[in-house]
Amino acid sequence: MAPRLLLAICVCVIFLPLGLAATSGLRPRSFWDELASGAAMLAFSIFLLEFALSGRFRPITGRVGMDVTMRVHQLIARTALVAALVHPFLYRAEWNPPYPWDVTRIETVTANIGALWSGMLAWVLLPPFVVLAIMRGRPNYTYEAWRFGHGAGALVICGLVLHHTLSAGRYASAPFLAGFWIVLSALALASFLWIYLAVPLLQLRRPWRVEKIRPVAERIWQVEITPDGHRGLDYEAGQFVWLNIGHSPFGHRENPFSISSAPRSGANLQFLIKELGDFTSSLGTIRPGTRAYVDGPHGTLTIGAREATGIALIAGGIGVAPLIGILRQLALADDPRPRILVYADRTPKQLAYRPELEVLARKANTEVVFVLSEPPPGWSGESGLIDRALLGRMFGRAEHHDWLFVLCGPPQMLASVEDALVGIGVPASRILSERFDYD
Ligand SMILES: Cc1cc2nc3c(=O)[nH]c(=O)nc-3n(C[C@H](O)[C@H](O)[C@H](O)COP(=O)(O)OP(=O)(O)OC[C@H]3O[C@@H](n4cnc5c(N)ncnc54)[C@H](O)[C@@H]3O)c2cc1C
Repeated sequence: MAPRLLLAICVCVIFLPLGLAATSGLRPRSFWDELASGAAMLAFSIFLLEFALSGRFRPITGRVGMDVTMRVHQLIARTALVAALVHPFLYRAEWNPPYPWDVTRIETVTANIGALWSGMLAWVLLPPFVVLAIMRGRPNYTYEAWRFGHGAGALVICGLVLHHTLSAGRYASAPFLAGFWIVLSALALASFLWIYLAVPLLQLRRPWRVEKIRPVAERIWQVEITPDGHRGLDYEAGQFVWLNIGHSPFGHRENPFSISSAPRSGANLQFLIKELGDFTSSLGTIRPGTRAYVDGPHGTLTIGAREATGIALIAGGIGVAPLIGILRQLALADDPRPRILVYADRTPKQLAYRPELEVLARKANTEVVFVLSEPPPGWSGESGLIDRALLGRMFGRAEHHDWLFVLCGPPQMLASVEDALVGIGVPASRILSERFDYD
């Protein structure tokens, strides 16, 4: 799905209930009453749309990118929160039982507690729900526990809002608008069941096994898995998967990791993983033969059919993982285009696959540049950070403006490298990047 098409679908879904309400034939009320109902409808359609955005559907994640999808998810969630919280305070009509002569409820907002309780409960639950989402990753609960709670909590809140909408919403008295909310809620529930039930069931039919696991740099491991009774995965170099090692797929104990092997190298998948939290710090205890499951491939950090006269791969730390996959694929495909890998880290001990990269760099069209921010005495390579001066020296000539620049690393590094590249004349449309963190 093209990003613009996705955006158009999102905008349509969000604003469709307002359009349906406008054509319902009900006489409009005061500006403030209409604004109140409009804010509520906008918030509810966004909440339901969020299920599709976080459902890891490959037509979305494979074209728009996971980090863009998640940023949109976070941004519109905040908008929906504000709209939902202000909506009850915008009404100017009386909170009363309807007058007998006011059959289309122009003069009153329902005061029937049977119609209001669900909305009030959802209103109370929403702020802590969003605050917990913003504070995710804090040490007092695991990411997996948070993630399941987030999905289940969203489902409960949307169930409450659906009840409130159908029983209190003035416009939901029109059958086609009530039908719209029911269908959209059913699709949201289907997205939830897809991720928590259907994907694990599919994974059970395509298990993997850990083939090899070994340290390759300071606190960095190479994990290799092999398909167990199936052909493996169709993926493009640079994509990522959710990887679960040693747990039932229904436990959702899985983490996103970029594939650092090349599709041309065979059916096994390799990952380069840095120790960070509970799962990644336990890699040393995993034994070959352990069962693994994969959900993917996802992601848009791929060269694919993009036209480019050369490829610049710029990595910070463990961000090198997908870029190594791309470099390996270019080498195995005998791609004639020149490519340069710029790989920054703090010390030489943290550089992964240094010997393999040095061998690759001996090929005529490949250059590998290591950049250390804490170089040891006698280091003859680049030192400091990847900044505008370094990029200008390497990619400042006009011929480089037709190259493709593929970036992966910490968010601050990505932002400064993107600015520096644009500053030396690289068109923003020729820069691809992926963050390993959604915040
Ligand atoms: C698209 C993508 C590709 C990545 N590729 C690599 C890679 O190739 N090599 C590598 O070392 N790291 C990679 N990461 C980062 C890696 O996913 C985290 O370091 C890892 O999940 C930490 O897990 P943990 O259990 O050790 O730590 P935890 O303490 O459980 O998690 C630490 C942080 O990692 C993130 N995280 C954990 N689990 C998930 C999850 N299921 N979904 C999304 N984020 C999660 C959260 O921000 C969390 O706060 C990638 C991340 C993303 C989003």
